[in-house]
Amino acid sequence: MSEDREKLGLSLCPFCGGAARFGKCVPGEQEGENDGAEYVECCDCGASTCLVFPLMDSAKQVLRDMWNRRTDASHAR
Ligand SMILES: [Zn+2]
Repeated sequence: MSEDREKLGLSLCPFCGGAARFGKCVPGEQEGENDGAEYVECCDCGASTCLVFPLMDSAKQVLRDMWNRRTDASHAR
């Protein structure tokens, strides 16, 4: 129940228990269609959600949901 985690609202990684963070595909780093897409990934093992495009300004909420649900029932893919 740390305040830091509260702020992000992200649960710990379901695979390794590491901290998770938001990431973003930066145009130029990768070619093409993923530019600007956001995701959540584990800082330790690199597990990540699928990409979400912030079309309606709340990609983080969707991603947080996706990630946190995964920690409950971690049957990835
Ligand atoms: Zn992990």
